[in-house]
Amino acid sequence: MTGLAGYSAVITGASRGIGAAVATALAEAGAKVTLAARSEDKVIDVAKSLEASGHEAFYFPCDVTDPLRVLDLVRAAREAMGRIDILVNNAGTASSSPLGRIPLIEWQRIMDVNATGTFLCTQAVWGGMTDQCWGRVVNVASIAGLRGGKYISAYTAAKHAVVGFTRAMAAEAVGSGITVNAVCPGYVDTPLTDETISRVMHHTGKSREESLNSVLEEASQARLIHMSEVTREIVRLCNAGSDAPNGELVVIDGSDSE
Ligand code: NAD
Repeated sequence: MTGLAGYSAVITGASRGIGAAVATALAEAGAKVTLAARSEDKVIDVAKSLEASGHEAFYFPCDVTDPLRVLDLVRAAREAMGRIDILVNNAGTASSSPLGRIPLIEWQRIMDVNATGTFLCTQAVWGGMTDQCWGRVVNVASIAGLRGGKYISAYTAAKHAVVGFTRAMAAEAVGSGITVNAVCPGYVDTPLTDETISRVMHHTGKSREESLNSVLEEASQARLIHMSEVTREIVRLCNAGSDAPNGELVVIDGSDSE
């Protein structure tokens, strides 16, 4: 597949999970990719394995909550790839606790990584995309950005912010050649979900299988979603055609057939 040949993409939180899978899918679609993650120890392996498969892949350590580091990322990605056509705001983090047990610092951390990081990265690429009259921004929100769930108030609020930001930027993008969309997955089979299941096991004493089932039941989800179901939608939203969607919130909840 070479639908994105000649295009250049930045993917945040690309050291593992959905971010690493998106970087791989965009590279396989023909794009040059710059992978960002907080530290270089894991992201370097993902970038090197893409390079070994013949793709143009770069990496840059960047905490998306650090405004200066985000500007450095954008500068480095432009230097490496020539321009930035695609931004996938994937970096995110989650935690779960009843309201009374969420310290302010934890609320702020969840808001900063998921919501403020998305704002900072989008703002940093926006001018360049506007000048080149072309850009694709895809935000990795969550089903938690569209509805509420027990014990995940900070994450739910942060992902609602990502969805609201997506809607507002899609409106701002009209006529510019830029599109802004979001994917809203339910629980995906990734290390982040593994950590959620481990927390349930720790707090309830349930087995891994029972904990997974209770997480899925609480989310009204029949099964875990495969990463490929998410990456497929992200690649579609990065579509180079003039008919590319704008302002779409793509729900991926496993309710359709696999
Ligand atoms: P993950 O924990 O496996 O990966 C998250 C990535 O983000 C990692 O590479 C991590 O290093 C990076 N990251 C975290 N904080 C960062 C920061 N401050 N700066 C830069 N990078 C940072 O998670 P995942 O499951 O692959 O999730 C990826 C995205 O998908 C997140 O935004 C998450 O909220 C969202 N999401 C995940 C699920 C799920 O079930 N796993 C469901 C819906 C949405």
